[in-house]
Amino acid sequence: MDEVRRHLEFHPGIDPEPFQTHIQKFTESGAILRDTWCYPRGGGQPGDTGYFELNATKYHFDEVTASVTGGETSIIHPLENDGLGIGMEVKVHIDVNRRNSLASMHSAAHIVSAAANERWGAITVGNQLGVDSSRIDLKFEDRDLFNVETLEEDVNFWVDNNSRIKIHEWGRDKILTDERVRNKRFVSRIIDRLGGENPMLRMVEIEGIDLCPCAGTHLASTGPIGGVSIDRVQNKGKGTFRLHFRNEKSEEIDNL
Ligand SMILES: [Zn+2]
Repeated sequence: MDEVRRHLEFHPGIDPEPFQTHIQKFTESGAILRDTWCYPRGGGQPGDTGYFELNATKYHFDEVTASVTGGETSIIHPLENDGLGIGMEVKVHIDVNRRNSLASMHSAAHIVSAAANERWGAITVGNQLGVDSSRIDLKFEDRDLFNVETLEEDVNFWVDNNSRIKIHEWGRDKILTDERVRNKRFVSRIIDRLGGENPMLRMVEIEGIDLCPCAGTHLASTGPIGGVSIDRVQNKGKGTFRLHFRNEKSEEIDNL
């Protein structure tokens, strides 16, 4: 398991606890910790925000990012380092409401992608999650067949179904021979990019509807998403629609 991306170890990826760690170094952009459970921006999911606690003082950090130098990944916590120093032990608090909302949105996004693929063979070509609103770009063979009300119904069927969301670590053969995995050409490219003998991929399964590689944070089941409404559909040309959707419960998910 990746030692710096510790958020990968946790599923469901909600209600992250505060954790103690040491400051390893500072870059121009912020602090690098010895280890971190913060989610760094990636895969369309914004990074965590939060604060370090040291001697009853709070040092807020902006959206966490990952930077790769010489093949090595560092997780950057952007903040002013006045009063902080290398080697200091800090308690890191992740903004729980933001994380929970994004985990809910992210789980909803899987269902939107999978439901559009299931019904029309649409391929997801882009996505950007937000706390209040998210978007997903779907490419259709025949865009005229697409109907947004049908998609919204399909998505909410899977939300109401309260399907379990599970995480697996699988190798190439297991992934590419599982008929539930959609868009194998895309998945195969991800595996090739990882390289190595038999790279293991983190697979996210939403029982009955979706199975795909993903490093994001998710709920334990789909029910707590509450409901998904698709507010706007934009024509992006070349058979692609951009869907803007909301998650009705994303503000309240921390109260579950
Ligand atoms: Zn995901």
